[in-house]
Amino acid sequence: MRIVVLGAGFGGLELTASLSDEFGDALDLVLIDRGEGFVFGFSKLDVMFGRIPPEAALHRYTDLVRPGVRFVNAEVRAIDPVGRRVQTDAGSFDADVLVVALGAEYDPAATPGLIDGGNEFYSVAGATAAREALERFEGGRVVVGVTSTPFKCPPAPSETSLLPHDFLVSRGLREQSSITQVMPFGVPIPPAPDASRAILAAFEERGIEFVPGRLVAALVPHRQVALLDDGTELPYDLFLGIPAHRVPAVVAASGMTEGGWIPVDSLTLETRFPGVYAVGDVTSVGTPKAGVFAEGQAEVVAARIAAQIRGGESPATYDGRGVCYMEFGAGRVAEIDVTFLMGQAPHGTFGTPSESDVAEKERFGTSRLTRWFGAGSSTSG
Ligand SMILES: Cc1cc2nc3c(=O)[nH]c(=O)nc-3n(C[C@H](O)[C@H](O)[C@H](O)COP(=O)(O)OP(=O)(O)OC[C@H]3O[C@@H](n4cnc5c(N)ncnc54)[C@H](O)[C@@H]3O)c2cc1C
Repeated sequence: MRIVVLGAGFGGLELTASLSDEFGDALDLVLIDRGEGFVFGFSKLDVMFGRIPPEAALHRYTDLVRPGVRFVNAEVRAIDPVGRRVQTDAGSFDADVLVVALGAEYDPAATPGLIDGGNEFYSVAGATAAREALERFEGGRVVVGVTSTPFKCPPAPSETSLLPHDFLVSRGLREQSSITQVMPFGVPIPPAPDASRAILAAFEERGIEFVPGRLVAALVPHRQVALLDDGTELPYDLFLGIPAHRVPAVVAASGMTEGGWIPVDSLTLETRFPGVYAVGDVTSVGTPKAGVFAEGQAEVVAARIAAQIRGGESPATYDGRGVCYMEFGAGRVAEIDVTFLMGQAPHGTFGTPSESDVAEKERFGTSRLTRWFGAGSSTSG
């Protein structure tokens, strides 16, 4: 049975590792990605705040050697979900089971003025440019703003408001600076009330202003003003923005999306096309767009494919749970554990920010790299 996995990100790598562990050389899996390597989302914060150089964030696919897996470094050009056929720069591939894990990409041009007047930090290139902007910054008004929903990793804007505080303090620039965060929600992380309370308390302690329920609709670069979606003007000297997200163009052209994302069965991750699954940010499954959720979905799909290979059915269903680590500044990290179940309010727990969770976050990253790439993989970033 030929399995074709599109996208070697959180979801695609987890799915591939699970099936390779289980079937070894007996597996027939083709994993396709156009990138040079994998980058953790959180490494972009490390790049932006100068903790690691951009090249240290990249975990090269050339290091991915897994039994039963053929990695193809190519652009996916067309997806036919009915015929389960994929066209790429490296030829076409037919699948018995097709898994779409192509993630979300960014559309900074969708926000007028963002490219010329601000810095998106969600891509490695954007985070690198934001780092240079921070290096040049001599103090003033920092605005961290979300431009559209949905967006990846809902805690990331709050991390990006807390970390500049430390950065500016360390440079003796905090006194002459302000930090303001514009968020589309009433609180920083609506499904995690305890985490939201702790974030708002940390903002208050550090004098960070929180503007709830608003999006940044545009920047006016020559006036250095952010226009919010209610017409309010917010002056800035440094704008750190979360750009609009969308599915990759090849997914939009495939006819698989509804309302901009791929709908899936929230328990099985099946799309409406037989033999075609979708996992992670590319879907509208109902969990936030974050790696931990993509990974959990991939585990379920792997179990279902494994059962199919063996000629049976799998009872594996998705539980909507994700644990992530949020930077609180001052060398501390907090664990947020949230579960999203269909038809129920999300619920979860929040651990007090601590120094020990810095190591936990590190372990989270290194354990994935070892599992996905093998023991010889580089573990930085
Ligand atoms: C600043 C920031 C911080 C974050 N922090 C966290 C965190 O702490 N914890 C967490 O869980 N998540 C975090 N995230 C979110 C996380 O990075 C994503 O949600 C996660 O990577 C999604 O996994 P995925 O498999 O759906 O897609 P991705 O990991 O994005 O993988 C998609 C893959 O598809 C490939 N691709 C796309 N189009 C094509 C094409 N046409 N042809 C070939 N290949 C293609 C891409 O190259 C990519 O490798 C963060 C994100 C950001 C931006």
